[in-house]
Amino acid sequence: MKNEEHNINARAGKLVVVSGPSGVGKSTINREAMRRTNAAFSVSVTTRLPRDGEIDGGDYFFVDRETFKQRIEQDAFLEWADVFGNYYGTLAAPVEATLASGGLFVLEIDVQGAMQVHAKMPDATFVLVVPPSMEELKNRLIGRGTEDQESLQRRLGKSEAELKLSRDSGIYTHQVVNDDVETAVADLITIFTETTPAS
Ligand code: 5GP
Repeated sequence: MKNEEHNINARAGKLVVVSGPSGVGKSTINREAMRRTNAAFSVSVTTRLPRDGEIDGGDYFFVDRETFKQRIEQDAFLEWADVFGNYYGTLAAPVEATLASGGLFVLEIDVQGAMQVHAKMPDATFVLVVPPSMEELKNRLIGRGTEDQESLQRRLGKSEAELKLSRDSGIYTHQVVNDDVETAVADLITIFTETTPAS
């Protein structure tokens, strides 16, 4: 069987990777879809500073760059990437444990990380969350209110670039338009729960 070549994929579980540009609202719909499907997820490690209200060990494990580099050397990450000048990484152990026991695991990571996962596990399911339009994406970034003007422009430019890179990567098997939240959540749940055809 072809799947046995990619050891993690050969196991019983299902891995779904969700990406989307900053401000598209992917966390909101993804969290709800994960809650309703009882999906396992991991807390990523990052060198970015916590935003107001974010909890260490809940939203992220916030670490300094030195600690992050040590984790890279220890080969602790399934994938990691430099996003907006900060490092973000997914620890491999929780993903492997869930897939080995046949569970659903959902990763919310950027396109660079998704490409690394794709290289290791090409049979995983890759979902790109997109805005209804670029104008709407801009409005959502403004609405979030965590950005000053300069970083807003920077994020918008990066979001556009990330969308293009994501589309060009060719790894995303599914796309969800985040226009109406309930519809987008339902679309994600369908993707999470549909059986991947045996290959
Ligand atoms: P934020 O700083 O807004 O929480 O996240 C910025 C970006 O980093 C988002 O696109 C998010 O999906 C991505 N991200 C969060 N955790 C990880 C991770 O573990 N790995 C990778 N590659 N990207 C991540």
